[in-house]
Formats: sequence, structure tokens, C-alpha cells
Amino acid sequence: MTAQLIDGKAIAQSVRDEVAAEVARRTATGKPQPILATVLVGDRPDSAAYVSSKGKACMELGMGSISEHLPADATQEQVEALVKKLNADPQVSGILVQLPMPAHINEERVLSLINIEKDVDGFSPINIGRLAQKGREPLFVPCTPFGCIYLLEQAGVKIEGANAVVLGRSNIVGMPVALLLIGKNATVTVCHSRTRDLPAVVRQADILIAAIGKKEMVRGDWIKPGAAVIDVGINSIPVLNPDGTPAISEKTGRPRQKLVGDVKFDEAVQVAGWITPVPGGVGPMTIAMLMKNTLRAAQIQNP
Ligand code: NAP
Repeated sequence: MTAQLIDGKAIAQSVRDEVAAEVARRTATGKPQPILATVLVGDRPDSAAYVSSKGKACMELGMGSISEHLPADATQEQVEALVKKLNADPQVSGILVQLPMPAHINEERVLSLINIEKDVDGFSPINIGRLAQKGREPLFVPCTPFGCIYLLEQAGVKIEGANAVVLGRSNIVGMPVALLLIGKNATVTVCHSRTRDLPAVVRQADILIAAIGKKEMVRGDWIKPGAAVIDVGINSIPVLNPDGTPAISEKTGRPRQKLVGDVKFDEAVQVAGWITPVPGGVGPMTIAMLMKNTLRAAQIQNP
């Protein structure tokens, strides 16, 4: 059996197209452009790149963006004051605080300050608390987990009643995706670094969400035939020449790298019913769902 590929790039593009069309429709009726404010503290190059791609996506979809940048030695008070300022600014629809922040900043306190109606990343304790409670709806669902569920639904995977196994229990992926699956009536097992006999647990999964950040750890013989596999992992590995030596980029003179997921794709694709590639699976969904959440924030604040 060869699994059906879930094309995250194409699905993310369709989400972006829908958001852009709705933004154009709203602004044509005289409503203000949705605006996303990003807060970056420090100079991590990966965080700076994420923030800049979020600003670029806003521009492409007809939304505005404000990019706030504080130095790595900014104080807790300065970060909190900035979030409060953005909360109070009626032009700002959504606020995204780029994580991780420098170690001396108490992230939880910062996230808890974000106005729930502007919490487009869905990480404020109120949104997460609502996600964890039966019969309560968060205003915003965290973007990567939201993207995982959206991919399953678009692929036509039946979630209700399915055995779902989530690898990883982080606040940003594993835990919220598990809560979303429970909300969709799956029976969910959450695995982590202390789980015993991981392959045996994974073999029970009709739906597998892998979010551990361990390159190609999940092997093909762990997968239940016909399962839906959503690979959230993004791991960089060296590209090798046919003789096993590292391939060197002609352009930079440095060893070439490529991205792989937490699942050994070549093996899993032979067994699974559906699978997401890396790259081009979950990755593009995160920003698409952020754009969807930012539009939703504008709709909530200015119906
Ligand atoms: P994280 O915070 O490092 O959490 C990793 C989780 O995996 C932890 O719960 C850890 O268990 C568990 N784990 C680690 N090694 C394990 C092992 N050998 N067996 C079983 N469980 C193990 O990671 P994260 O932030 O959730 O990210 C996970 C992956 O998703 C990374 O590759 C990241 O780059 C990727 N990611 C992708 C996107 C996207 O947009 N596509 C977004 C976010 C993250 P403990 O809790 O016991 O330590």
C-alpha cells in the first residue's frame, strides 16, 4: 500500500486564498484592515526569520502588520508594557509574542497579559483553559495544532472514534493537539520521553501525530496499516554524497542540509493510509492558520 500524500502546501494556500478574499470583502465595505502585531525580544535568527515571514504573509493577504522588536536585555516590565500598549491599540487585531523569549523573561506572565480577543496564537491561559474543558470553546486555537486537525479533516480522515496517538506533550504542539482530538471525539494517548515501548503504543494508532523533534525516529514497522500520519517534526540533517561523505554546497562552501520529519517517510509511506511530507506538510499550515486567526480577531472586534 502507498499512502495518500496530504499536501500541506496546497491546503495552506487554499486557506490563505480564502482569508485574502474575506479581507478584501471586508475592506471593500469600509472596515479596517486586520493588523497583526508581532513582538520579538532578542536576536535569535530563527525567531527573526519566523516573525518576518509572518509579516510577509500579512502583506500578501491584504492585512497590515506591526513589527515590535525589543533588545535581548529588555526587562520584564518593558515587555509587559509593550503588550499592554498593543492590547490598548484599537488598530491592532492580533498580538503574537514570538517564543522562546530570553531566559530572564517570564513567558507565562507575558502570555497571560494578552487580551483574549487578540490572542491569535491561542497560548493565553484563558484560551488554553477553554480548550481543555468540555463544552467550552477557545476564541483561538494554537496555529500548528489547528493546522494538524485541518489537514486531517481536509484529507477526509475520520477522527471521531479513532485511536489517536500523539508523540510529544509540549505546550505548543503535543498537548493542544491532544485536546483538540479529544474534542473531536478521538480516543487519545499522549506519549513522551518516559513512555514505555513506544513502537507498541504507536502501532495502535489510527491517527498518529508525531511532534518530538527526533529525526526519523518513527519507523515504518511502527505504523498501523492504513493509519493517518501527521509529521510535525522539523529536523535538519546533512545531505550525503553516494559515497557517504557530506555533500558541500557549491554556493556557500558549507555542508548541505535538508529537512526531515520525526517519521521515516520512505518506510511509513509504504504502510500508512495518509501521510504528510516534510517539508510541505504541517509547516506551511502554521502561518496559514495564524492568518485565519488574525482575520477572526478582526471579525470579533469589528463584526
Ligand atoms: P519540544 O518542546 O522539544 O517537545 C518534545 C516532546 O517530545 C516532549 O514532550 C518530549 O517528552 C517528547 N520526546 C522527546 N524525545 C522523545 C522520545 N525519544 N520518545 C518519546 N517522546 C520524546 O518540541 P515541540 O516544540 O513540541 O516541537 C516538536 C517538533 O515539532 C520539533 O521538530 C519542532 O521543530 C516541530 N515544530 C514544527 C512546527 C511547524 O510549524 N511545523 C511548529 C512547532 C514545532 P518530555 O515531555 O518527556 O520531555
